[in-house]
Amino acid sequence: MASVLVVEDDQFVRSALIRHLTEAAHTVRSVGTALEALREVAHFRFDVVILDLGLPDLDGSEALKMLRGITDVPVIVATARDDETEIVRLLNDGADDYLTKPFSVEHLSARMAAVLRRARSSAGEPPPPPQIRVGGLAIDPLRRQAELDGVRLDLTRREFDLLAFLAGRPGVVVARRELLAEVWQQSYGDDQTIDVHLSWLRRKLGETAARPRYLHTLRGVGVKLEPPGPGETPGPGR
Ligand code: CA
Repeated sequence: MASVLVVEDDQFVRSALIRHLTEAAHTVRSVGTALEALREVAHFRFDVVILDLGLPDLDGSEALKMLRGITDVPVIVATARDDETEIVRLLNDGADDYLTKPFSVEHLSARMAAVLRRARSSAGEPPPPPQIRVGGLAIDPLRRQAELDGVRLDLTRREFDLLAFLAGRPGVVVARRELLAEVWQQSYGDDQTIDVHLSWLRRKLGETAARPRYLHTLRGVGVKLEPPGPGETPGPGR
């Protein structure tokens, strides 16, 4: 039926939700913190997220805003606070619906059905992300696979995300701050993190910072990915 992400730190509530949703033929993944939830939605496609607002790592409304920064998946917030001002604020922050704890299985099913119906009728089934091709690079975001000149690249999750993000905007200079926000989901951080991942990625692409082919660093500005020009030599071993 639907693929559901359950974000709930209470083991008891979490297992009850998983059991109920699985019995109702939904596919369920579950995590116990907001940061894990962000990672999940960045890497998998869900039809709906059930988000507990009392999580150990982030305030619920912060978690909701961060989720909204990376996905428009329908979110049902589950709150223990039956406070109208709070609920209005959450709906304004991008929640699609809410449940007040404790809630019954019937109540949850009804809310989920309504949210799914709305999402499906407004958007239709979203199309899968298209393959990205830049020069000899082919990236399949759905299967999380990348090839260079027909050879499969063995990338870590982060390297893949970085490559896919840059290849999705060929020729566009992406600022480091934007990379941190989009690939690392951090609003601030260390430039070195990016440099290190870029250098690993370069090595796998068979190029160096001094002799770039696809990945071009513009000092003090950012990074861009573009296809090598016709006169440029192929990387070693390719
Ligand atoms: Ca909780």
